[in-house]
Amino acid sequence: MTRPDLSGAAEPTPTPNAAPAPSADSASSFASLPLPPTVLANLQQLGYLSMTPIQAASLPLTLAGRDLIAQAKTGSGKTAAFSLPLLANLNPRRFAVQALVLCPTRELADQVTQEIRRLARAEDNIKTLTLCGGAPIRNQLASLEHGAHIVVGTPGRILDHLARGTLDLQALNTLVLDEADRMLDMGFAEDIAQVVQACPKARQTLLFSATYPDGVASLAARFMRDPKEITLTERHAANKIRQRFYEVEDSERLHAVGLLLNHFRPASTLAFCNTKQQCRDLVAVLQAQGIVALELHGDLDQRERDQVLVQFANRSCSVLVATDVAARGLDIAQLEAVINVDITPDAEVHVHRVGRTGRADGEGWAFSLASMDEMGRVGRIEQIQGGASVWHPLSELTVPAGAEPLRPPMVTLQILGGRKEKIRPGDVLGALTKDLGFDGSLIGKINVNEFSTYVAVDRSIAAQALRGLNAGKVKGKSVKVRQL
Ligand code: ADP
Ligand code: MG
Repeated sequence: MTRPDLSGAAEPTPTPNAAPAPSADSASSFASLPLPPTVLANLQQLGYLSMTPIQAASLPLTLAGRDLIAQAKTGSGKTAAFSLPLLANLNPRRFAVQALVLCPTRELADQVTQEIRRLARAEDNIKTLTLCGGAPIRNQLASLEHGAHIVVGTPGRILDHLARGTLDLQALNTLVLDEADRMLDMGFAEDIAQVVQACPKARQTLLFSATYPDGVASLAARFMRDPKEITLTERHAANKIRQRFYEVEDSERLHAVGLLLNHFRPASTLAFCNTKQQCRDLVAVLQAQGIVALELHGDLDQRERDQVLVQFANRSCSVLVATDVAARGLDIAQLEAVINVDITPDAEVHVHRVGRTGRADGEGWAFSLASMDEMGRVGRIEQIQGGASVWHPLSELTVPAGAEPLRPPMVTLQILGGRKEKIRPGDVLGALTKDLGFDGSLIGKINVNEFSTYVAVDRSIAAQALRGLNAGKVKGKSVKVRQL
């Protein structure tokens, strides 16, 4: 496969492997790959110092042009594993869609787009466009008219554009199916087949999945050309995730969640329930105790969903309560704890839930509440985890008298105004630090969305910052701000 020159017209052709002398772990160093120095330097800047196992196993093959089926758990770095070959196949001077990434949900598509943009920084002017349902099609048409090199989207909306003739895939050279298992769960098999029909036959196809059910295998067999298969089913490092089971009566289950939170005081917890009703009930119980808990569920509209996720990610919400379906594929860093409020009937699902904590070398807690009726499920979990579970009595969960309820360290302020108003994170940071004099260490994540900007500020300055922003200016304009 010929590789386009990634260096831009005026620069000399980059030498692959123009990298520092091999270090002790050169096998997992990105420098062992045929990537241009600009790309390697950008990875270094992003803090990607060595490859994750799935990247190390797949990139030598995919950068050589092979089709690939890769299975690895959530959080293992699959996005970069397909984004780097996709970018290597790209000719930035050709203004046509050359890569398409299909994702199951808009959130995942947004996350993938962000990661591709970060990785594409090594090269000027690579345009990546997200095309998902739930966003107005009119704006997408305008963006498509401006041209894009890479499109990331959900199968339904991509098909929609293909049918309208507003998306042309004739120049495509890389097709990625991300979270293929999830797309099949959501009934996208036929949509995917139709999208593939619209792609040129000569292309590289990469399929990524957290699990590898039969449906994924037959999907792959239909579309792929002699694919290489990689499976990384490493179990989580047992010492990093501390799992504890507590036996509960059904009547005390929701109360027990509050006990766990106030005893262990994790800053960010993902609580899994088996049903939506249980999610709703748990949020009500926790909120009544003064704990900031939010529910992630399918009935939220996109804006509400974004708000929930922003608040959780910026540490102004202590507990995100979700069913497995709602939580699937979320990439949330810094999760101190996972709570299995109910035991899932599917032992593999339990392993996935628990794998959400203790990521990125952090330590994590996984707590599970089990009633007598759920002991059969616990038995199956023990079987696939290959070990007996560790049980602790609920009675040891003590909360000192008069202790404050668990509070998140940050508070989210919502500024009405976003990308449409050309607000950038630096504008908000400037308003808070330069204009209002707050120390930068008290300001957390800043998320700029289309119509809104969310800034996390330390709880101790929330009221002052809210007043200050409302009275002052952001990017030279008065703004309306409210606390979420
Ligand atoms: P997956 O798709 O497998 O769930 P992601 O691609 O979302 O995982 O990656 C999880 C996190 O790890 C992201 O925040 C990403 O930026 C980070 N990451 C990916 N590759 C590396 C790397 N080689 N070094 C450090 N961090 C990485
Ligand atoms: Mg992913």
